[in-house]
Amino acid sequence: MPTFDLRTVLLMASVMPGLMALVMFAIGRSFPRNIRGVAQWAQGSLVFSAAAFLMALRDALPDWLSVVGGNICMVGSIGLWLIGSQRYLGRGPLIRFVSGMVLLDALGLSWMTYIDANPYGRSMCTNVILAVLFTLLAYELLRFGRKDSGARVVGFMFAVETLITLTRIVTSLEPGSAHEGLYAHDLVQLIYLSSGAFMSLTITVGFMLTAVNRLRIHLEQLSHIDPLTGLLNRRALLDAHRIAQGTPRRRGSYLALLLIDLDHFKSINDMYGHLMGDAVLIDFARRAALALPQEAHFARWGGEEFAVLFPCGTVDEPLSLARELQAQIGCKDGSALPSYTCSIGIAYVDVPEATIERLLKQADGALYLAKRNGRNRVEVGAEFVAEGT
Ligand code: GH3
Ligand code: MG
Ligand code: MG
Repeated sequence: MPTFDLRTVLLMASVMPGLMALVMFAIGRSFPRNIRGVAQWAQGSLVFSAAAFLMALRDALPDWLSVVGGNICMVGSIGLWLIGSQRYLGRGPLIRFVSGMVLLDALGLSWMTYIDANPYGRSMCTNVILAVLFTLLAYELLRFGRKDSGARVVGFMFAVETLITLTRIVTSLEPGSAHEGLYAHDLVQLIYLSSGAFMSLTITVGFMLTAVNRLRIHLEQLSHIDPLTGLLNRRALLDAHRIAQGTPRRRGSYLALLLIDLDHFKSINDMYGHLMGDAVLIDFARRAALALPQEAHFARWGGEEFAVLFPCGTVDEPLSLARELQAQIGCKDGSALPSYTCSIGIAYVDVPEATIERLLKQADGALYLAKRNGRNRVEVGAEFVAEGT
C-alpha cells in the first residue's frame, strides 16, 4: 500500500522535467548545428510535464482533457524523445511512425472513453504503445550511442522503463487484477507511477548531460584544429608529441619532425592578395596530406609554417617523405593558383631523447640552412648529421 499520495507524485513529475526542459531550451539554442536533437528532447520533456499535470488533475478536469489529452501528451512526449535521440545519433527520425502511434492512441482512447467505455482497455492501449516507444529508445541509444557514455546511461534508463511498463502490462492481464485505473492501490502501480515520475526527471537531466558532454568534445576538437586549413594546430601537435614520446613504439625507435616553410610567401600575398595567399595555404595542406603516412601528425605551426611529426626507423624515411612532399606540391594539377615551393628542415632523434625542444632546435636549424642555401630544399638537422658522420 502506498504511504504517500500518488497524485502528489504525479504533480511533482509534472513540474520538474518542465523546468529542466526550459533550461535545456535555453542552453540548446547556443549549441552548434552538428549537435542535433536537443530541441526535440526539450520539447519532449515539456510535453511530458503537461501530460503528468493533466493526469494528476484526473477528477478536477473533464475526461477528454485529463484521460485522452493526458495520455496523448504522454505518448507524444516519449515520441519526441525518440525523434530527438535519433537526430542526436545521426539517424533518420521515425516521425511518421511516432505520429501514427499518437494517432492510434488518440483513436483508441476516444473510442474507449465515449463509444465503448473501457478504462482498463484505455490504460492497456497507452501502456502497449509506451512499451514499444521505450523499447525503441533503449535500442537506439544503446546500439547506436554505445560510444557515447551519456547516451548509454539514458539508454539504460529506458531499458529499465521498458521492463517496468512490460511488468505493468503483464500484471494487469492477470485474472482478478484490480483494474482500478491510474490510482489503483497496488504495488506495481505504485512502482510504475513513482518510477515514471523519477525517470522523467533523471531522463531529462540525462539528455541534458549527454548534450553538454557532446558539446565539450566538440569544443575540445575545435581547440585542436586550425580553422583555415583544417589541420591540427600547434597545441594539438604538442599533445601528439607528448603522447608519441610516452607510448612504446610499434614501429621505429626515432621521432622525426619536419618543419616546412613556404618560400617567398609574402610576395604571393603582395602580388595576388591575401585571399589568394589563404588559398595557397589550403592547397598546400591538401596536397601535402596526400604524401604523408597514416601515423604522421600534420599541423599548421603558424603563418605559412607547417610541421609533421612521425615515428620512424631510419633517417631515409623523413628524407624521402620530404622529397615526396615537395614533388607533390611542385606538380601542376591544372589549378588556377600561382606555383609555389617550400623549404623543409628535418630533425631526427632517438625517442627517449626526442623532447620537443630538441626536435624544434634541430629542425629550425635545418630549415634556416635550407633557406640560406637557396630555398626549395631539404636539409637534415645538424645534430643528426654530426652524430651520423
Ligand atoms: P621566406 O621564403 O624567407 O620564408 O619568405 P616569406 O615571404 O615566406 O616569409 P616572411 O616571414 O617574410 O612572410 C611570411 C608571410 O606570411 C607574412 C604574412 O603576412 C603571411 N601570412 C602569415 N599567415 C598568413 C595567413 O593566414 N594568410 C595569408 N594570406 N598570409 C599569411
Ligand atoms: Mg615563415
Ligand atoms: Mg616563408
